[in-house]
Amino acid sequence: MQELIDLIRQSGKVLPGNILKVDGFLNHQVSPVLMQHCGQELARRFQDAGVTRVWTVESSGIAPALMTALALGVPMIFARKHKSLTLTDDLYTADVYSYTKKVTNHISIAKRFVQPHDKILLVDDFLANGQAVNGMMEIAAQAGVQVVGAGIVIEKSFQPGGKELRQAGVRVESLAKIKSLAGGKVSFEEGEA
Ligand code: 5GP
Repeated sequence: MQELIDLIRQSGKVLPGNILKVDGFLNHQVSPVLMQHCGQELARRFQDAGVTRVWTVESSGIAPALMTALALGVPMIFARKHKSLTLTDDLYTADVYSYTKKVTNHISIAKRFVQPHDKILLVDDFLANGQAVNGMMEIAAQAGVQVVGAGIVIEKSFQPGGKELRQAGVRVESLAKIKSLAGGKVSFEEGEA
């Protein structure tokens, strides 16, 4: 998506550890118009998949997931990262190691918001090692619901998450694919400007 790629070029900062900081439009200050366009594009790519719910993980996935759900006309659920002290029997849970924060989060989704015939689209801001998407897939497997794919705003394709998911047969659609952050320079995959 050209608009997204242009913004990454203009204001993305490369941090040590192959982390791209995009807090001017996605991870701290959020651009509603960009999020709307990301949501519309992900919805377009998955329009024939019969999506009934969009799932993400709090907090940075919420903006693109909400806009995707709006465009598809379905609810959005964000997995919570904090342990609930009550009603744990009523939750599906999984552990997700955070690449940027170097901690393991216990994510959960309430059973009452999952229906047996759900077709889930997973949305997240970044795809790196695939931990967040895999955690949500684990919850979907526990719940016995179908995952139709993953819609990602920025995929770092030099990290293994996207490749592993595609090899496992998961449909992954990314709006910008970054080939390298080496030397502090952002390079996009061929075919992306
Ligand atoms: P994964 O679970 O695929 O290893 O990493 C995805 C999660 O880690 C995303 O939800 C995102 O919050 C965070 N993340 C991974 N890489 C980056 C990055 O380069 N920049 C930012 N801002 N977040 C990242």
